[in-house]
Amino acid sequence: MITDTHTHLYSSQFDEDRAEMIQRAKDAGVSRFFIPAIDSSYTQKMLDLEKNYPNDVFLMMGLHPTSVKENYKEELALVKEWLDKRKFYAVGEIGMDLYWDKTFIKEQQETFATQIKWAKEMNLPINIHCRDAFDEVFEVLESEKSDDLFGIFHCFTGTFEQAQKAISYNMKLGIGGVSTFKNGKIDKFLNEIDIKNIVLETDAPYLAPTPYRGKRNESSFLTQVVGKLVDIYGLSYDEIAKITTENSVQVFGV
Ligand SMILES: [Zn+2]
Repeated sequence: MITDTHTHLYSSQFDEDRAEMIQRAKDAGVSRFFIPAIDSSYTQKMLDLEKNYPNDVFLMMGLHPTSVKENYKEELALVKEWLDKRKFYAVGEIGMDLYWDKTFIKEQQETFATQIKWAKEMNLPINIHCRDAFDEVFEVLESEKSDDLFGIFHCFTGTFEQAQKAISYNMKLGIGGVSTFKNGKIDKFLNEIDIKNIVLETDAPYLAPTPYRGKRNESSFLTQVVGKLVDIYGLSYDEIAKITTENSVQVFGV
């Protein structure tokens, strides 16, 4: 059994064939799907997904850094309302993204810190999005670090040193398609990271692994990433699947 710890199954890119796509994943052994939030415009789609797949889909709640705009306070209030209202399995995806836009850097940092505080209060893991913002993300983690801060550094693309730093804040590394890219870099040092710190993810529909690079990603393609980790760690396919699923259970509590 393989666990996809970060997949946007509600994306409109799956509107034409969502049921078939999810069945393909299950046929490939990928049967647990953790669903990150982005902003309130996706909430109903996430709830619908959970309704249709109550045993397979686990929802997160949070405000994505690229959705931190003029109305971020209202969006944050909705996140809090949902977190208080029902069970979610993580606060995510949250973090900082300075690749697209630096206009709201201060608000992004504030929003990230606020949501980390909520996660700690509720004893939930966080799911971190970090793009072109390692220093800024680490600055917030440093100020919020504690025993009850834990989670996943989603789509980890940093250096070996940054990986060690992320792990020092009780984060596991979300590994996906990038590990299969020729220029992805992380495959060069991953064997020096204990596999107990690794979870698998697709970030579907984005970041499809080789040989599907550039195409729409889907959860069934996670088998390619398992194959890559077999090479890196010298463990069997089943061992990689089992250990990374156990790691996901440790984070999410299910
Ligand atoms: Zn994502």
